[in-house]
Amino acid sequence: ASLPCFVGFDLGTSGARISIIRPSNDSSSYQELHSDTVSWSDEKRYDDPDAWMSAVAILLEGSAAYLSSVASICFSGTSASCLLIDRANAGAVTRRPRMYDYDVCHSVDPIYGVRALTRLESFAPPQHTTRSPTSSLAKLLAWHEQTPLTKQEALAHQADYLALQFLSENKACGSGPSNFRSVSSDWHNCLKLGYDVRNLCWPSWLLDCLSQANIDPRNVLPEKVVSPGEPFGTISRRMAERFGLPATTVIVGGTTDSNAAFFASCPSTANVGTAVTSLGSTLAIKQTSRNYIEDASVGVYSHRFPSVLMPASTSEAYWLAGGASNVGCAVLRQQNFTNDELRDLSLLIDPNVDSHYRYYPLTKKGERFPVADSNKEPILHPVPNDRAEYLHGILQGISDVECGGYLALSKLGADPPIPHTIFTSGGGGKNEMWRSMRQRRLTDTFKENVQVLRAQNSEPSFGAAVLAAAHLRVS
Ligand code: ADP
Repeated sequence: ASLPCFVGFDLGTSGARISIIRPSNDSSSYQELHSDTVSWSDEKRYDDPDAWMSAVAILLEGSAAYLSSVASICFSGTSASCLLIDRANAGAVTRRPRMYDYDVCHSVDPIYGVRALTRLESFAPPQHTTRSPTSSLAKLLAWHEQTPLTKQEALAHQADYLALQFLSENKACGSGPSNFRSVSSDWHNCLKLGYDVRNLCWPSWLLDCLSQANIDPRNVLPEKVVSPGEPFGTISRRMAERFGLPATTVIVGGTTDSNAAFFASCPSTANVGTAVTSLGSTLAIKQTSRNYIEDASVGVYSHRFPSVLMPASTSEAYWLAGGASNVGCAVLRQQNFTNDELRDLSLLIDPNVDSHYRYYPLTKKGERFPVADSNKEPILHPVPNDRAEYLHGILQGISDVECGGYLALSKLGADPPIPHTIFTSGGGGKNEMWRSMRQRRLTDTFKENVQVLRAQNSEPSFGAAVLAAAHLRVS
């Protein structure tokens, strides 16, 4: 038989993507055998569960050559995108998805959102991530305010919902097959629903909050919450036959898109002190830490590092701490730099020399991390006549925010305090001059050698496939 391969799906903001991977010959990394994308459109909307399933089906049908060797499948979805299903009616959708950017206080019926947040405020700890009007918990409570939840309704995140479609039917308490389904989820998706990732339980404040609202937590919360990458169960016979997947295919716990991007970008993920800087439209950083750190005032929180990716010798938990700035490469577009110009002008810049401009490259007023200041103004003046000089100043400005971001994680207690290796993803990741400039400035900031590298693959679907492959390592 051929070697097993592993499938990762990412349901993202612009489309759905599949990656199929296999361990490299020396087992030190993974080789991507196949990848493909389906874009969202008016017919295939990003917030339609039928479109999610049809995109996944198209991507599987286009991968037919590999499917008979698949060992496991993992789904990644956008964070806090969720819907309600009917557990007693084969998991039929009862309330349509509220996506990652859905704000319960700025929706068609803000009154339900306002009531939901008022309830949350009397239960959730101060500054808790669930207090955001886009959290899964806020969405759940707002649904309940609108129309009380039935006993059969249960919450599923986007990734949970897809896993559910592939898992074998849960048997009801009695004998024989039934229409009953229960939702399984993972540490990453459940963070914004209020799951306590330190103690691996639903916290008492959450149970009290739901009970007081007349919601039975046992009905509505995912029944099982596993580590991303830990097996949920095997595929249903129906789905295995439909796609020609082995009956033994395992469906594993999912993750969220930005965590999946981390696992894709960072080959030695479980090495504390490794980090990923995403230089896309906005700048985001994530670092593996021995300590749980958080500071809601600047949007810093820690995801629990998947146990399936931990070295077997380590018993303590690791964390994935991160923050996102409003600064980023979007400012380059705004200042009319084309990608060709960025490439050509960068060749004229010496990464070992400082620009004397001190820009703060926001596209508009307001910063969230490393400092939260809704009144912070962009600083992009004075503008030199020379475009390369201007670019130099802007790229240095962005890399200073990156340094400030890692310093902020360090001050909040990240352990180790200095990221020793930083992989770079996003459009800015391909700029070699900038990589070298950032390495020098980070090394100067921390007074210790920081290695800055380009990520080989930062697609969340690849990261999901890495998680799909991980459980075989430990079992
Ligand atoms: P998004 O976050 O929108 O997905 P991408 O990761 O695709 O963004 O990155 C696109 C950004 O990368 C653009 O803002 C573009 O200005 C920037 N970019 C593209 N090429 C370069 C380059 N050579 N150097 C620096 N930035 C670049």
